[in-house]
Amino acid sequence: MIIEWHRHCFICENPIDIRVCAETAYEYVAYHQYTHMPLYMNKMYYKFIDKKLRRVCLDCFARHKKPNFRALRDREIGRCRMRPRTFLSLTRDELVDWIHGMEVFMYPPSESGASPP
Ligand SMILES: [Zn+2]
Repeated sequence: MIIEWHRHCFICENPIDIRVCAETAYEYVAYHQYTHMPLYMNKMYYKFIDKKLRRVCLDCFARHKKPNFRALRDREIGRCRMRPRTFLSLTRDELVDWIHGMEVFMYPPSESGASPP
């Protein structure tokens, strides 16, 4: 199974517009039956940010907003802290782990040590 992407989110820099290429019919059926949900948040959307149209993921499209003046002022004078935001879209390392998990799921290692078909 091959996974590729050509763009990154402008805000969180996670890969967007992901394309999965199955090498066999078994992988194709397994992918479309079980695994398209984890990649749902990495779909590409367009959003106006600072008067320019940017490519963002679905999570950033739905939840990102510019902090208001009072929040920035309070952060500058040390009155409050802005916690780092957690993103729901998958990072590059999570995607690689997901692909390796899919390979183990589709072709489980046999106990006798024989290679999978
Ligand atoms: Zn994003």
